[in-house]
Amino acid sequence: MPQIVRVALDVPLRRFFDYCVPEGECLSVDDIGCRVRVPFGQQRKIGIIVALPSESAVPLAQLRSCEVVLRDLPPLPADWFRLVEFCAAYYQVPVGQVMLSTLPAGLRSTTPAKPRPVRRLPDDTRAIAAPALTAEQEMSLAAIAAGGPGFHAYLLHGVTGSGKTEIYLRLIERTLAAGRQSLLLVPEINLTPQLEARVRARFPAAGLVSLHSELGEAARNRNWRAALSGAARIVLGTRLAVFAPLPEPGLIVVDEEHDASFKQQDGIRYSARDLAVFRARQCGIPIVLGSATPSLESWANAAGNGAGNAAPARYRLLSLHARAVEGARLPVVRRVDTRVDKPIDGLSGQLLEAIEKRLERGEQSLLFLNRRGYAPVLACMACGWTSGCRRCAAHLVLHLADRCLRCHHCGFAAAVPKACPTCGNQDLSAFGRGTQRLEVVLGERFPQARVLRVDRDSASSRTHWEALVARIHAGEVDILVGTQMLAKGHDFPKLTLVGVVSPDAALFAADWRAPERLFAQLMQVAGRAGRADRPGEVLIQTQFPDHPLYAALVDHDYPAFAAAHLKERQQAGFPPYTHQAMLRAEAPRMADALSFLNTARASPPPGCENAVTFYDAVPMRLSRRASRERGQLLVESSSRRVLQQFLAGWVVQIEAIKAPGSLRWHLEVDPLEF
Ligand code: ADP
Ligand code: ZN
Ligand code: ZN
Repeated sequence: MPQIVRVALDVPLRRFFDYCVPEGECLSVDDIGCRVRVPFGQQRKIGIIVALPSESAVPLAQLRSCEVVLRDLPPLPADWFRLVEFCAAYYQVPVGQVMLSTLPAGLRSTTPAKPRPVRRLPDDTRAIAAPALTAEQEMSLAAIAAGGPGFHAYLLHGVTGSGKTEIYLRLIERTLAAGRQSLLLVPEINLTPQLEARVRARFPAAGLVSLHSELGEAARNRNWRAALSGAARIVLGTRLAVFAPLPEPGLIVVDEEHDASFKQQDGIRYSARDLAVFRARQCGIPIVLGSATPSLESWANAAGNGAGNAAPARYRLLSLHARAVEGARLPVVRRVDTRVDKPIDGLSGQLLEAIEKRLERGEQSLLFLNRRGYAPVLACMACGWTSGCRRCAAHLVLHLADRCLRCHHCGFAAAVPKACPTCGNQDLSAFGRGTQRLEVVLGERFPQARVLRVDRDSASSRTHWEALVARIHAGEVDILVGTQMLAKGHDFPKLTLVGVVSPDAALFAADWRAPERLFAQLMQVAGRAGRADRPGEVLIQTQFPDHPLYAALVDHDYPAFAAAHLKERQQAGFPPYTHQAMLRAEAPRMADALSFLNTARASPPPGCENAVTFYDAVPMRLSRRASRERGQLLVESSSRRVLQQFLAGWVVQIEAIKAPGSLRWHLEVDPLEF
């Protein structure tokens, strides 16, 4: 009787596939976790061997034969299987898709290039140039050491510059010494070449590899293999690195754990932070989540279940209150009441004066405005025409740098019209303000100053970004205008002023997570000011100077902000006090999208009719994107387990719905954006 091999394939079906092993070959349990080439329909595919079952539901005579088992790599370890299986089950995605899509492309190819062999370096725990720890750092490290080697989750809450990274480095050093591998996850490697350099400089012989989407295919393949072979003792990467196979895991660190980019927003919509916690638990190793502004979910986990609930904390909270460098202070944050000090071209008198002072002292200023382009809309005052995107329910943004109107949602671009397309009026008005306009205004107001704009348009690649950063460091810039790109992870020693130009809109946004994001952004951007020996100042232009969010910012008081917001969330019944999933559908016509969602709503799995709360199926806020109408349906339960059980059955019901061929849908568990 031929041997049977069970294979995971990258196909949108919630099942594995059985093949028989060609005569003369015999597979052993050591082959589980190896790749295998199989016929699939008319094609060849690379799959992963998940089992060697003794029988198959498919009659033997109908089983096709697998072609070749690829043994060029060590088999994927058992804990990797548990991770991808958990991911598939939790996010309701076919497991084969999770498994295969987390492999580098080269390993999924049926015609692989021959890779260079990976050399295993001797474990080298040598660490170079470490500063003496501060008392707070000592305490945090002692608490982690006291926790011992098993699973513990620590929430490291430390203000910007308090030395969180130094703690990561010390933990990595211990992990190296214990002969184990460390996984360090960061939100955007593009913005953190500094961190990579810092880790490499500290552990020059630890075979640090990075894993992120900007790596070329060959490098990603090589680095992934180094992780799997154990040659890489430190793996530094963005969210996809949470799947890196590690034969000897010893530590996971998630830096800036609150950052939304840990959540994948398309394809498999997973949270790398949440998967990292699962992974640490099942590997029995410590995990450290670090942030100056933790997500409210993590904060609630560290603080028991929040207001009025005495449930035990799941994460151990470690706090760093002061900056690590001797004498370095947190910046002074001040509110500029723009009802009184009315801005001209977006800039209040106080902000202008503060910039002036920096120019005199040869220091740098950063103006923070989270909106790209020149103006968010072009309009005709004569007839009321506005620059709408034909494909989206959104405005085309005026970009003067390359004289075009551009949609930030679908990428559509057109030349700026010379006259109103409706009435011919030649006097079109640009409304609102983006970074380009601010750049122009500053150039006019301070002709002697060197103004540099840093946003996704000016720093579109890592190379561009690094060139801009180098200019800032070299002191070739007096005034920076930037989006949140500039807010993250960079030390500019001469930067002593941060001006927040117009943050108010997020206070009252329909998305209830907007204030949390705003607070994190402002704390982060404020953290850029005065990192070295020069004290920093932050000016926030606002019409609502008494708003509690700004008051907490002035006091650098994240815990106060978090406590107030968690209380609101609890009263309103929002996460983390409830658990949610979002079903979204898009189609050429809204009626089709909504009717699909309503059918789904009416098709709960048998026995689960009243398990969850349904909201109404509604159009999404950006109701049309790239010519497709979009709707959403929110489901909710106070129990994560109940929601999970419901979703597992529901997704099967949804797959059975007969929908127009042009309709696309997806389910997102723990959605972040509404
Ligand atoms: P964070 O990650 O919290 O922003 P970092 O670890 O990057 O903080 O530390 C901020 C700055 O303080 C860095 O320049 C770092 O080299 C320095 N630093 C960290 N720990 C110490 C220490 N114990 N003594 C002196 N300087 C330190
Ligand atoms: Zn007009
Ligand atoms: Zn568009």
